[in-house]
Amino acid sequence: MAAQTKEWSGINSFAPATQTKLLELLGKLKQENVNSLTILVMGKGGVGKSSTVNSIVGERVVTISPFQSEGLRPMMISRARAGFTLNIIDTPGLIEGGYINDMALNNIKSFLLNKTIDVLLYVDRLDAYRVDNLDREVVKAITDSFGKRIWNRSLVVLTHAQLSPPDGLPYEEFFSKRSEALLKALRLGAGLKKHEVQGSPIPVVLVENSGRCSKNEIDEKVLPNGIVWIPHTVEKITEVALNGSKSIFVDQKLIEGPNPNERGKFLIPLILAIQYFFAIKPIERAIRKDIARESRPAWETRDASLVGRRF
Ligand code: GDP
Ligand code: MG
Repeated sequence: MAAQTKEWSGINSFAPATQTKLLELLGKLKQENVNSLTILVMGKGGVGKSSTVNSIVGERVVTISPFQSEGLRPMMISRARAGFTLNIIDTPGLIEGGYINDMALNNIKSFLLNKTIDVLLYVDRLDAYRVDNLDREVVKAITDSFGKRIWNRSLVVLTHAQLSPPDGLPYEEFFSKRSEALLKALRLGAGLKKHEVQGSPIPVVLVENSGRCSKNEIDEKVLPNGIVWIPHTVEKITEVALNGSKSIFVDQKLIEGPNPNERGKFLIPLILAIQYFFAIKPIERAIRKDIARESRPAWETRDASLVGRRF
């Protein structure tokens, strides 16, 4: 018999107003017949993935570390509350020494085999000032592993959100510039066309995992822009879960991706047809026209007249 899922008691550690909002959101999910959610957390190392998992669960369930000693294995935490089950999967960072850590990626893939991913949290820091190739590499690795569709089910999470932006930039402006830059890298890395993200843009949420996060007058954790981030994040997760796109079921085929030998094979008949209609046909036509137009060569007429003369 499967072990019973632990009670999600971490909710009790939140401010009463936050608890009420969270229970309302779980109620909303259940109303839509969503009785469980599996959330996958991915991103580079040290960006605050594990801390975010702990913050959302409301318990210290996974180890956090300021140094690169994350281990290579993903970890799933399951908690049940009011008939709803939350599964949240913390993963090791995907980058090591400037490259994609294939071992970590493979561990994540086999860990997820036969699981369904309802929501992806793509985590990075708010207080990073550039995006580079590595960001695109991470996004590409995720896309290659789980398909483009995973981005319809994703949320960008920016940690370290309690900050004073540099150069006196207003907080909202800094947030929107950072989001835009990251979303652009994400679109490029995932190979998403503009129209593929239009209509359902990827939401970006802010998170402050530090115990020093400011609180409002009713004791809820609040960001410099006034957002009470825990219920806000869970609300956005709920919206993604209910956005009508399909969850990602991770099967062997998805993990292995298209076989490089098979890739593009389906294009062969199309290429042949194109060659036939746009190359062979016009050449044939040209030859036929040429033959029809061709005046009889001089030697032929001459020979014919010689023949005529002799007999
Ligand atoms: P992971 O490697 O992505 O899992 O990152 P961790 O959660 O282990 O965090 C790496 C370091 O960043 C730890 O020292 C955390 O305490 C710190 N950290 C994570 N999130 C935040 C945040 O939102 N604010 C601050 N100030 N520190 C954070
Ligand atoms: Mg971690």
